[in-house]
Amino acid sequence: MAEVRFLCDAMLGGLARWLRAAGYDAAFAYGIDDGQLVRQAQQDGWVILSSDSGLFDRNVIRTGLVRAVFVPRGLTMRQQLAFVIRRLGLPILGMPRCMACGGKLEEIPRESVQHEAPPKTFAACERFWRCRHCGKLLWRGTHWQKIQRVLEDCASPEQWPE
Ligand SMILES: [Zn+2]
Repeated sequence: MAEVRFLCDAMLGGLARWLRAAGYDAAFAYGIDDGQLVRQAQQDGWVILSSDSGLFDRNVIRTGLVRAVFVPRGLTMRQQLAFVIRRLGLPILGMPRCMACGGKLEEIPRESVQHEAPPKTFAACERFWRCRHCGKLLWRGTHWQKIQRVLEDCASPEQWPE
C-alpha cells in the first residue's frame, strides 16, 4: 500500500501536499488537459484523484485500466483528505514526504545543519531531515506537529464526511 502514488488534478493541489505529509507520493497535474492526465497516470501507474466528473466518462477509467477516485466538490481540504483516506483505506505512513515536492526525506546529522537551520530551531530540535529531491531542510517543530495533528484528525471517524 505504501507504493500507491497519486496524481491529483488541477483542482486538488492542496490535497497532493497533504498526501505527501501523510507519507504518500503525490503529484499535482497543473496546466495539462484530461487526456494528458490520463495518459500520464496510465503510463506511470498513478491513481488519479479528481473532482472533474467528465474525466470519469473516459473508457480507460470506466474499465478500470486507469484507477481513479472521484473526490466530491465542496469539501474542505481536511474533508478531501479524510475522504481519500477512508475510500482507499490508507494508513497514515509514519514518515512524511516533502510537502513541497513529494521527495523522500532522509535524516541527517544535527551538527551538519548548525549553520543552515535558524538558531532557535537548531537549539530546540534534536532531529533534522532533508528532502532528497529538492534539498529542503525539515525538522520536527511546531509546524510539523500541527500537520501531524491534522492527519490524525483526518484518520479519525468523526472527520469523515458522509
Ligand atoms: Zn522536496
